[in-house]
Amino acid sequence: MLNDDERRQIAGGRLFRQTALESVEHLLEHCSRRSLAAGETLLAPNVANDTLFLVLSGELRVYLGDRNLPEHTVLGGGDCVGEMSLMDGQKPSAHVIAALDTSLLAIPHETVWAMIENAHGLARNLLAILAGRVRHDNLTLVTTQSRSLEFEEAASVDALTGLHNRRWMNEAFPRALRRCERDAAPLCLLMADIDHFKRFNDQHGHLVGDSVLRIVARSIAEDLRPQDLVARYGGEEFAVMLPMAGIDEGMNIAERLRATVSQLRITLANGGTEESVTLSCGVAPFRLGDDLAQLIGLADAALYLAKQGGRNCVVLSPERA
Ligand code: GH3
Ligand code: MG
Ligand code: MG
Repeated sequence: MLNDDERRQIAGGRLFRQTALESVEHLLEHCSRRSLAAGETLLAPNVANDTLFLVLSGELRVYLGDRNLPEHTVLGGGDCVGEMSLMDGQKPSAHVIAALDTSLLAIPHETVWAMIENAHGLARNLLAILAGRVRHDNLTLVTTQSRSLEFEEAASVDALTGLHNRRWMNEAFPRALRRCERDAAPLCLLMADIDHFKRFNDQHGHLVGDSVLRIVARSIAEDLRPQDLVARYGGEEFAVMLPMAGIDEGMNIAERLRATVSQLRITLANGGTEESVTLSCGVAPFRLGDDLAQLIGLADAALYLAKQGGRNCVVLSPERA
């Protein structure tokens, strides 16, 4: 039933490598030919398969899960597919679709086992094919997992400053809040905003402004204790949660952040002129029953007072003084 070309294709493929085709000649009678038009489906998830297919000509593509994602593997002449269900008896886990008009040799599973009896080289080849498949699948799994971690990270980190963003804050801050509440430990929320930053941008350009944001963000992050949480709240504003900090410690930390930022010297590209920026802070100590939104409201109101009071200073929420 096979022409010379097809016999050569089979003999040169991975399944029959270094095995004498003659030793399984009589079993080829149990095989049939299958033709697929381009676009036709050979295997689909959850449709049982009891055949090993060997590609005689054309091309198959293997898709895992979503058909809209790029194909997982491309199979051409001499490659085989369907060997996984031969080993584990499970339904296929992938879509296998003809990319071109494709001709296949269909070997029923019981014939594959009979071939293995007759030609041990076939067992070795099949193992090698399976090992390659498993390794490739694992690799894909690892890549997919690390990619989804990257996406997760991208969604919670602010690209300009490298600090966490507000989205992350909305998840992480309430957790810290509840922990302190449960442990009856003190906590403060601090809002910090760069002073007259619009003016700074106007004077030095947005790009210099961007690097100032990065410098200030790093300065704040480095000045904090290990248990503190910081996020870029938006624009030139930062939110800091200080677990285990009562009013005095909260005020001290805020004052330290403010002082450090005021001492930063920002060297401009144009002839090395040095500039500096200042920070205003509002501090709101936690009281039982507060939620994050209330604390932010109080810290924001205190920050507003700091701006009114001349900037470059720290103000404690009057309602918690
Ligand atoms: P105040 O002291 O009252 O806070 O004055 P301000 O000028 O800092 O505040 P305002 O809210 O009027 O302006 C905030 C400025 O921050 C305006 C905006 O251009 C700048 N800004 C916000 N985000 C970015 C950013 O990502 N990069 C740069 N370069 N500037 C930013
Ligand atoms: Mg500002
Ligand atoms: Mg602002």
